[in-house]
Amino acid sequence: MHDLIARLYPICRSITGNGVRETLAIVGEHVPLETVEVPTGTKAFDWEVPREWNIRDAYVSDASGRVIDFRRSNLSVVGYSVPVRARMTLGELRPHLHSSPEQPSAIPYRTSYFSESWGFCLPDVELVALDEGEYEVCIESTLEPGHLTYAELLLEGETADEVLVSTHVCHPSLANDNLSGIAMATFLARELSTRRRRLSYRFVFAPGLIGSIVWLSRNEDTVARVRHGLVLACVGDAGRTTYKRSRRGDAVVDRAVAHVLRHSGQDYECRDFTPFGYDERQYNSPGFDLPVGLFMRTPHGEYAEYHTSADNLTVVRPEALADSLGKLLAVVDVLESDRRYLNLNPKCEPQLGKRGLYRQLGGGKPGGELELALLWVLNLSDGHHSLLDIAERADLNFAVVREAADALERVELLAPANGGG
Ligand code: ZN
Repeated sequence: MHDLIARLYPICRSITGNGVRETLAIVGEHVPLETVEVPTGTKAFDWEVPREWNIRDAYVSDASGRVIDFRRSNLSVVGYSVPVRARMTLGELRPHLHSSPEQPSAIPYRTSYFSESWGFCLPDVELVALDEGEYEVCIESTLEPGHLTYAELLLEGETADEVLVSTHVCHPSLANDNLSGIAMATFLARELSTRRRRLSYRFVFAPGLIGSIVWLSRNEDTVARVRHGLVLACVGDAGRTTYKRSRRGDAVVDRAVAHVLRHSGQDYECRDFTPFGYDERQYNSPGFDLPVGLFMRTPHGEYAEYHTSADNLTVVRPEALADSLGKLLAVVDVLESDRRYLNLNPKCEPQLGKRGLYRQLGGGKPGGELELALLWVLNLSDGHHSLLDIAERADLNFAVVREAADALERVELLAPANGGG
């Protein structure tokens, strides 16, 4: 995952343009993607696909050469800047220059998607050092009718019920915010493609905000099949895992993630839904109200490097990426095997010993987790409680509860309840 992030890092992405296409082409080397091009002007609910933005070069130079240089960092130009070629004084240029005094040695990330303007970003220490005098200003960009590009991957399961995994693909050289999510979705998809799946998995790689709005506007039928969903963002830093619940707050995915984090043995945080953040805003809008949470490590805006050039390849760590992927796969395990069963011997406890499921010697210490799980599963499998319900009530790891259910099913003490779901 870190290698993929490193490869994608130099590409200048935005909400439209060739950087997104190049990114999706590279992701497509790992998993089979279907790329969709939506023309400028296409309506999507209250929005419209904007003109496509591309950029070849940009700089501010004085007699000594380039003092701001797009080729050194693609963050140097405000995203969606219109083309400019002019000479101007520092006083004239100054309103177009953006820095971050809180992060004085980093280049801030700025965009101007929905109002026509141009600008440059630079470290505050360089901004305050600029001399009075004349500068040559050049932005070689195009803002023209074109397309918005997104991509999808559907891994079909035994049922049409879908898990939606969505990540944004619109940030330029920022590693944790954006690229970590892209790499995580890619490797999660690759791993799930090799597994037996009860559920179907739909991965959406789309530019933030407008991309998910456009996707939703073209997928109202698909949305009816979404049973669980996760937005992935900022999943590669060293911080603890943070989960933001769906708008419903108690959806199965919310409970599954909380369960996995609680049993991870690590520090974590679960938060309630808020209508800001990433594309969970759109999936959780009242007209859809999809059970989609936001899976992160340190949340957006809460780490010092966020939205600056300091969110670079050193912020994302291979071990943190691996940890996030492991947790997501544990969540998938819960979603895949959470179902309701019926105890086929509900009048008093069945004899587990004679079926080889219980320690043979009485009088010792009470049983281990598996023995407890056997008793809990038998007791609560009345057709009303799912394995996740049981794991929560028994405060046992879901994997142990599932193992107990599998063992009881093998000896015909348990059968899936009607429909099982
Ligand atoms: Zn961002």
